[in-house]
Amino acid sequence: MNFTYDQLPGRVVFGPGKLDQLGAEVQRLGAERALVLCTPEQVGQAEAAAAQLGQRCAGLFPGAVMHVPVEVARAARDEARRLGADCAVAIGGGSTIGLGKAIALESGLPIIAVPTTYAGSEMTPIYGLTEAGIKKTGRDARVLPRVVIYDPLLTLSLPGRIGGPSGINAIAHCVEALYAQDANPIISLLAEDGIRALAGSLPQVIRQPDDVAARSQALYGAWLAGASLGAVGMALHHKLCHTLGGSFNLPHAETHTILLPHAAAYNNAAAPEAMARVARALGCEHAAQGLYDLAASIGAPLALKDIGMPESGLDRAAELAVQNPYYNPCPVTREGVRLLLDNAYHGRRPA
Ligand code: NAD
Repeated sequence: MNFTYDQLPGRVVFGPGKLDQLGAEVQRLGAERALVLCTPEQVGQAEAAAAQLGQRCAGLFPGAVMHVPVEVARAARDEARRLGADCAVAIGGGSTIGLGKAIALESGLPIIAVPTTYAGSEMTPIYGLTEAGIKKTGRDARVLPRVVIYDPLLTLSLPGRIGGPSGINAIAHCVEALYAQDANPIISLLAEDGIRALAGSLPQVIRQPDDVAARSQALYGAWLAGASLGAVGMALHHKLCHTLGGSFNLPHAETHTILLPHAAAYNNAAAPEAMARVARALGCEHAAQGLYDLAASIGAPLALKDIGMPESGLDRAAELAVQNPYYNPCPVTREGVRLLLDNAYHGRRPA
């Protein structure tokens, strides 16, 4: 018992159909001209949000894309200024919420996030911007959404091929929170229960996508996972995902899904208490194997070779991953990481 816990501010509204509170939440912030952000694929949901806002909707910006390129951020900021927006409503996954954060970073505009995936960005003060192919991330209190509306009905349309890996991406936040350098008992409670909620619901979400109870459980788990990510530092797993995503342009959630069992195996002996909690939440004996089996059971990708990673890039990836020293329960060595990547490349079940 030796910790520091910084509680982040924020209001969470959770429940099926809660999108209908959007207008009231904008009003509660004292805002009158909301700019609604979405990807081109989610214009339908964004229009439903705009309809909830009525007169309080200043306009729609349907240009969010993966990794928040600075050009897109600039265009969205210009649009917010042009419309005289006094708040941003980001409805979508991490990419859309990331765009809201890019606007808030510059202008301080309050964000209402309406997450429709399990990525968890809505609960963190972390932002990312990509310029000339290089993604830079940082932390700033201004980008933390003021209000988060979790409406499981908005996730009914999330296809299994996106929702499955997105859920395991969320579990990865929980796993690393449990062995974080600045771990604390409160966040560990959230993290363990986040794994339990997600692992318990994802198979049913994939089997029966319109099961609102399962969707609610999964989104609840995603909330806890996002809160864990926002509160404590991450380690080897997130570093590797960042490296592979940035240098080899691999898809975000799938990369997390494939690497997580191997990162857990790497840290298994060095973080026995955390791993026992992961296994308990998964309802299995061995955390790393349980994570692998969960991914397999929902038909998620298991091997880096299947998502576009070139085998010739594994050496460079290992080099990059050990370049800047950072905290990890088990010391990070080039050989260790190279072996981890080899296992992940081939999709082997952890021993
Ligand atoms: P995403 O936001 O890129 O969404 C993937 C695709 O799914 C998009 O086409 C989107 O429109 C679609 N989609 C989302 N919800 C849907 C729904 N309910 N129905 C139908 N389609 C839907 O993917 P993501 O995994 O949510 O986010 C990944 C990005 O978020 C990465 O850039 C990652 O770095 C970032 N991220 C940031 C943080 C943070 O704290 N800053 C945390 C997690 C992720």
